This record gives sequence, structure tokens and C-alpha cells, in this order.
Amino acid sequence: MQMTRKHLEHILHRHKRSHTRDDRYAFLTEWYDPTASLLRQYQLFYYPKDGSVEMFDVKNQRIFLRRTKYDNLHQEDLFIGNRVNVFSRQLHLIEYGDQYTANKLGSKKERTLALIKPDVVAKIGDVLELMYSSNLMVTKATMTKLTWSQAADFYVEHQSKPFFNNLVQFVSSGPVIAMELMGDEAVSIWKKLLGPADSAVARREAQQSVRAQFGTDGIKNVGHGSDSLAAAARELEFFFPSTIGHGPSNTAIFTDCTCCIIKPHAISEGLTGKILNSISSAGFEISALQMFNVDRANAEEFYEVYKGVVTEYPSMVTELCSGPCMVLEIHGTDAPRAFREFCGPADPEIARHLRPTTLRALYGKDKVKNAVHCTDLPEDGVLEVQYFFKILDG
Ligand code: ADP
Ligand code: MG
Repeated sequence: MQMTRKHLEHILHRHKRSHTRDDRYAFLTEWYDPTASLLRQYQLFYYPKDGSVEMFDVKNQRIFLRRTKYDNLHQEDLFIGNRVNVFSRQLHLIEYGDQYTANKLGSKKERTLALIKPDVVAKIGDVLELMYSSNLMVTKATMTKLTWSQAADFYVEHQSKPFFNNLVQFVSSGPVIAMELMGDEAVSIWKKLLGPADSAVARREAQQSVRAQFGTDGIKNVGHGSDSLAAAARELEFFFPSTIGHGPSNTAIFTDCTCCIIKPHAISEGLTGKILNSISSAGFEISALQMFNVDRANAEEFYEVYKGVVTEYPSMVTELCSGPCMVLEIHGTDAPRAFREFCGPADPEIARHLRPTTLRALYGKDKVKNAVHCTDLPEDGVLEVQYFFKILDG
């Protein structure tokens, strides 16, 4: 009797331990070491309970960073292919480090293509808001204008349909925005959010859908979504080729323009849709849009003029390479001056007192996480736009 009890206690104790065991997620990551010009591999461990991280140097088989609390990493950012910033190192998440992590974080994660058609490109902010509220994350985005034959290639499966010509004609009639969406069951969630192809049917049968809210008819119906995982892979490859080559080119025009960067903190706080809406409602024309993962060397280069001038320079660099950012070309004869006005003072606290309707007053947190970068000097507008849309997207 006594023996059995002991045995049971032991089992209970073991179970209790395994239940209270700290959840630990493991990843294989790569970091480009600019001083050694080397790609280094680390195992990254993340403990969701207290938000601490730990790093293990794979090549040298030793602890690189002892378990330390780190507030700037969140569970939502932990998925394969993403880049996260850990103590100023931009780590590329290559694969799950163990089966537990893969099961827990990766099992239902899918990627799909969302193509925003020309009829609602100006309402991109509203569409993004709906995507975020369906727990879809935007991991890639680019504004492009398809030629007739590119659009025909994209819609080749509908070649024999009576509406094919109208469809291709419409999709190539103006700028579109291609996005990679990521999330649990992203393929079906995005299709469901779009609703039935005919906007009138959508208004009758799926009132909450994007097409019901923003669509016009069967052709002007807001967007496209991949039908299956296989279609998603093919369609993502069309816009965001992973191997050689370049997808359809960006729409930057490089004249009468200024550069706006929606900073990584604002993207990860889910403010992208709101910021884009504010920019459009203030009457600014967004003539190019793309998401970038800026690495440290490029962030330093881009901010070079602030080096030694602005005390926040090192933190600005760290912020810019801490995750994906979204870069916009804002077009208009007076765009550099007018847009800078609209962004407001660099310090959001000051902005909230003096210019409460500006972007930084509305969406900024502090002098570094101030929601947006905008070109300071009008003569630099074209140069900054070129840096992203010509050099980094070369
Ligand atoms: P979905 O975009 O919902 O996947 P389909 O794959 O059936 O819909 O069709 C592709 C696109 O072709 C639609 O988004 C729509 O723009 C257009 N389309 C489909 N059916 C019609 C139709 N009967 N008349 C006009 N356009 C249509
Ligand atoms: Mg379809």
C-alpha cells in the first residue's frame, strides 16, 4: 500500500513538473556578421512565460547569450522566414528548432497571395484593417502595374472563360498591390474575407466581406485570393520570386516626390492600415509602396546624414532594422514640404501638444519609435525614394 502511494506521488509530481515546465520555443536562425562578412548560425530560444531569450552559437557549440528578459520580441513575430531583432542583431528565422515548436507554432500557419485590384488601391488602409482584424499578417507587399500579358499569365486558368478579356483588361488598367499574407489557415480565411466574386452577391450573402463593403460588380471586386496552398505558392512566386529574377517592377516615378517609411514598431503594432488611411484622407497620393527588411548596414547608410548630428542615430538604425518596414513614395509638386508638415515634430510628445492631428502625434511613441520617417530636405526626396525603389529593390 505504502509503495503504491509513493509510486503515485512520484507520477503526479512528474506530471506537475511537465505542466509547469516553462514553454520554450526553439529556432534555427542566421545572422549576417558585417565585421567578419560571415553568416553565423544561432539557436534562438524564446520563453513566452517571461518573455526571455537565450542564444546558442551552433558552430562553436557554446552559449552565446544567457537567458535574459527581452521585451521587444513577441510570440506573433516567431514564424519561419521572418526577421527579428534581438539585442541589435537582426536574426533570420530559418527553421523550427524542435518538433514541439513546429507543432505549437507552425502547424496551421499558411501563406497566401492577396492581390488588391485597381478599384480599391486608394482604400488599401481599410482593406488592411480588415485583414488585421482577421488575424492575417502582411509579410510582403509591393505596388506594381501589370502589363496586359503579365495579367493574362497570372489569370491563365481563366483563359477560356467569357470574362477573361475584361478581367485582364481591368487588372492591368492601373496599379495593384500584391501582398503575402500569413496566418493560421490564411488561404481560406482570406478567401472568406473577400467573399463571393460578384460584389452584388457578396452584399446579399456576406455583408461583412471586403467585396460587400468595397466592391462594385463582378469585375471590380476588390481583390484576388489564392484558391489552395499550391496556387498560393505559384502566385506568390509570380510576384515575389524566391529564386533568380525579379517580379513585376515597382511603380516609383522618382519626380516631385518624398519618401515616407512606416517604421517597424508601427507595423508590428498593427498601425499600418490606420496610417495609410490617414495619409490618403489628408489628400496625399501614394505612387509607390513596398515592404522591406532593411539590414543594419543599409539602415546605417540610409541614416548616414544624421550620424553625429542627431543623438538618437544609433537607436534610429536599430529601430529601422528591427523588422519589416513599409516604404512609400508620396507624389505631388509640393509633396516634400507638405508631407513633412503632416508628419509633425519628430518627438511625438511635442507633436501631441503642438500639432495633435499629425501622424507622429497620432501614432508615435517616442523620438525613435515615432511611427514614420519622412524626408527632411525637399532636395533629398528623390534620392531617398531612389535608395529604396532603385537600389534596395534593384
Ligand atoms: P475569385 O476571384 O473569387 O477566386 P474566380 O476565380 O471565379 O473568383 O474568378 C476570377 C475573377 O474573374 C473574379 O475575381 C472576377 O474578377 C472575375 N469574374 C469571375 N466570374 C465573373 C463573371 N461572371 N463576370 C465577370 N467577371 C467575373
Ligand atoms: Mg479564383
